[in-house]
Amino acid sequence: MAAVQNRIAKSIYIIDPRPIGGMVFGATDDDIMCNTPVDVSSIDRAYSSDLLDYLKHVGVDAADSSYVPRRVIGDYIKYNFRKYLQEATRSGINVLKIDSSCSRINALSRGRYELVLSGHTVWPTICATDVILCTGHGLPKVPLIFGPYSEHFTFFRSPYPEAEMLAKVPASSDVLIIGSKQTAMDATLLLCREGHRVTMLSPSGELPAVRRGFAPSYKFPIEQSDLRELIALWCPDGSHLNDRSIRKKYLLYLARTLRRFSNTPVSRQFSKLKETRERLSEEIHIADDYNCRWEDLIISYVDAINSIYFDCKEVNAHDFQPGFRRKMMRYIAAAALPNAKKILKHIGNDVLAVKQGNVTNIQASQADGKAWKVRWDGGEGRFDAVVCATGFQNHHYYFDDAGALVLDSHHASAVGRIDIAHDLSIRNPRTNKRENIWVTGSATHHRILTSSAIFLSIPQVTAAMNSMVNAVYESLGGEHDLVGK
Ligand SMILES: Cc1cc2nc3c(=O)[nH]c(=O)nc-3n(C[C@H](O)[C@H](O)[C@H](O)COP(=O)(O)OP(=O)(O)OC[C@H]3O[C@@H](n4cnc5c(N)ncnc54)[C@H](O)[C@@H]3O)c2cc1C
Repeated sequence: MAAVQNRIAKSIYIIDPRPIGGMVFGATDDDIMCNTPVDVSSIDRAYSSDLLDYLKHVGVDAADSSYVPRRVIGDYIKYNFRKYLQEATRSGINVLKIDSSCSRINALSRGRYELVLSGHTVWPTICATDVILCTGHGLPKVPLIFGPYSEHFTFFRSPYPEAEMLAKVPASSDVLIIGSKQTAMDATLLLCREGHRVTMLSPSGELPAVRRGFAPSYKFPIEQSDLRELIALWCPDGSHLNDRSIRKKYLLYLARTLRRFSNTPVSRQFSKLKETRERLSEEIHIADDYNCRWEDLIISYVDAINSIYFDCKEVNAHDFQPGFRRKMMRYIAAAALPNAKKILKHIGNDVLAVKQGNVTNIQASQADGKAWKVRWDGGEGRFDAVVCATGFQNHHYYFDDAGALVLDSHHASAVGRIDIAHDLSIRNPRTNKRENIWVTGSATHHRILTSSAIFLSIPQVTAAMNSMVNAVYESLGGEHDLVGK
């Protein structure tokens, strides 16, 4: 969309083995809901009314604060794709979607790149002058202990595609879900709806916090210098204050910032309860009463932290103390209020239990019925199916010895790993040369706290596109062939 709006390319190739919309917004079950409300989910520009206008156009009754099914966002993305395809055609821009995966990018002479596509007979390679990598997250993370069972017929590496999972889980099953965050909640809501009983198991045994929505960062500007000082307090080499003192400083800072922006006392914004059901219930009350004002600051915090991290060479060179970071992520990745209410109902109906622990032993048979015997520190159980909801791997892109950018790697490689500049262009560490290749979304993971939301990835795309426009104008002024993945 941005490339067509900027009239920056003569040809645009979109390379992706998946259809437009990707995995997350390719959901087909309308009980898989967005975790972000309408007002922060536009893909045209962040915080625009574009999505709301679209919903009105297609007759979906929604407001700024509504949560819609992820399928609806998928339809909205496809609608925009068709719209911009027409605009591209009118402007003489050639757009081609190639259903393939790109495995490597070779640098050719005169600023051109050759993209090697996997298993495509018509297009084994294509050439382009500029490349944007929008490759999202990688494969599902499967805990090592489940590795030997990954081909078992009632083991699921992730709940998606959800229709496949639901079709394979035998009727009225006891299902173990590994994880207790967003993906685990998605899986739980569908499985409980279908009459299964679910146990969520995770090392923290904690559900995400609960929020109503988000507020755009421009409404709640955060002073970056204060945060910068806070982040500098903890060092991975241990040369820092003791954890207790650091934690105290973090909390004082948070309380101070929250008081600056809201009249709701800090103590009324959070639950101090420990037991899962009681805590969830209290957090739902807090959100219902609109006392969860911390949510107004989330986007500002993430924007500020992302930009501070970007100035560091490595995210983990300076970071928050790990225990605090985990707690902070519980709020950053909080659950949307409607989903939290459904989860509470399932706990109340005794069809959902949330347990804390790490899996220590697994026995899986090929028999029908309770094929899984799983033990964890603190308990054990027999299950008909196991679903992993432990997140997704990050891509680790690097330049190999031949100077090619390797894209099919899920393994961290310190040697030749791409360096990402502020304008999101990448620098080849072997040649120290800036490439006409830009990275957005999850692949920027080693430079930022998170980009896992539309409102975070759209500004990245805008920044990358602005940088590309500048690069084009600085160059000979020739027209460019753009590749996005
Ligand atoms: C479970 C879950 C729920 C989420 N819910 C929300 C939400 O409610 N609201 C929200 O704003 N955000 C949500 N997000 C985050 C959201 O998915 C991302 O912000 C958004 O999808 C980023 O878009 P993207 O195009 O960068 O990546 P993606 O949507 O992940 O798309 C990446 C695409 O790249 C393709 N690809 C990967 N490697 C290659 C390769 N080598 N060659 C060719 N193609 C390749 C993949 O096939 C994929 O289609 C959620 C994420 C997850 C995991």
